[in-house]
Amino acid sequence: MKTTFFWFRRDLRLSDNTALFHALSENQQVIPLFIFDSNIIEELPKNDARISFIYKQLQSINEELKKIRSSMLVLKGSPKEVWQKIISEYEVKNIYFNKDYEPYAIKRDTEISTLAKNNNIAVFSYKDQVIFEENDVLKDDETPYTIYTPYKNKWLKAFSSTLCEAKKSENHLTNLAKTQFSFPSITSLNFNLSSIKVKPYSLANLESYEAERNFPAIDSTSYLSPHLRFGNISTREVINNTKHQSEIFLNELIWREFFMQILFHFPHVVNQNFKVKYDQINWRNNEKEFVLWCEGKTGYPIVDAGMRQLNETGYMHNRVRMVVASFLCKHLLVDWRWGEAYFAKKLLDYDLSANNGNWQWAAGTGCDAAPYFRVFNPYEQVKKFDPKLKYISRWVKDLHELSYPSPMVEHKFARERAIATYKKGLEGV
Ligand SMILES: Cc1cc2nc3c(=O)[nH]c(=O)nc-3n(C[C@H](O)[C@H](O)[C@H](O)COP(=O)(O)OP(=O)(O)OC[C@H]3O[C@@H](n4cnc5c(N)ncnc54)[C@H](O)[C@@H]3O)c2cc1C
Repeated sequence: MKTTFFWFRRDLRLSDNTALFHALSENQQVIPLFIFDSNIIEELPKNDARISFIYKQLQSINEELKKIRSSMLVLKGSPKEVWQKIISEYEVKNIYFNKDYEPYAIKRDTEISTLAKNNNIAVFSYKDQVIFEENDVLKDDETPYTIYTPYKNKWLKAFSSTLCEAKKSENHLTNLAKTQFSFPSITSLNFNLSSIKVKPYSLANLESYEAERNFPAIDSTSYLSPHLRFGNISTREVINNTKHQSEIFLNELIWREFFMQILFHFPHVVNQNFKVKYDQINWRNNEKEFVLWCEGKTGYPIVDAGMRQLNETGYMHNRVRMVVASFLCKHLLVDWRWGEAYFAKKLLDYDLSANNGNWQWAAGTGCDAAPYFRVFNPYEQVKKFDPKLKYISRWVKDLHELSYPSPMVEHKFARERAIATYKKGLEGV
């Protein structure tokens, strides 16, 4: 019997899932598949918290499927080899998946689509993780926006509630194939479960979001990022539940889509400055200083608190992400790519487009970036956003001990050095 496959990637849910909806409403005998991509996971430590998060989410989806006498096929390998094996074992009629806009994913999907075509298999891909994808919101001359505010205005103008209507995949689950695939143990995948716990998200009570979101000691942000990253909840559902609560919150979700379309249209940003005129900055790149930053031992309590929060929990508050990123690029003159790579290793919500976009923003090299002469003053940031040192004392337990380091570089000196170095780099072009 001919089989249709639905391929889970960054959309780990059964409900309101566009490609799953189409796969199930247009076919019977649909097999849901997940591939632990060896090209990605072999680079990761054995207890990587993202792998644990994905694993647990797959496990819970599989439990749901078992209730309706179905199951998920979970495999490990390079996607091309896995698909070749599947095609040799099954009579595959169709493959359905949701689109992914990262350069690696585009290359992977093109490769799999070619393989499918060569085997007379139809491929169907859908927009799902965003409201507007790469070419949906363009300037009047059909070129991509590189400045956030006009992008946001056009986004809002084009937005309507119908775009957020749920794709009720959950109503068609009876068209899943009745299977009993065995679910792999985490150790058979060559991983261990991480001790890092992912905080559940909350979309209620966003009324105070605007007033409180910059205060890292207050739990007023949604903690949605890893859940959105892996698609445990749909973007449509998030927007439907929040759009009447907070305009500012919606703006943040638009930043997410803004950076996704930047990455799509300007893939050079993965390794290079968005603005080439910043290519001549003479980064100091002192490795010892970089290690102190990574370990949260800079002697700047707000920076150290942020880095320790990241190292212990895989999360850091957005305001503090901005402070630590600015500190690394400007106070220490370390290339933003080093900081970006460290965040990529540690963040539960690591997402290439948002991470790269925000790092380039902090470094001043990005599309709509902070000007180079804007150097966050870490002491002023504490006065404004953590005046009672609540956040700092939560993460820097040794703050009042003699062993706590003194500042690794003096603020005024570092600020002036940063501005002079950037200026010289820019003039050198
Ligand atoms: C240097 C740096 C690196 C970052 N790296 C990432 C990353 O790898 N992945 C990531 O999801 N976010 C990243 N961010 C953005 C932001 O810090 C996180 O999205 C946010 O802290 C997640 O917490 P939350 O879900 O409680 O956010 P909320 O304030 O509740 O925001 C809701 C959602 O909006 C989106 N969002 C919010 N702020 C931004 C932003 N500045 N850019 C893009 N999307 C945003 C996220 O999807 C977030 O979950 C980075 C920011 C900085 C300054």
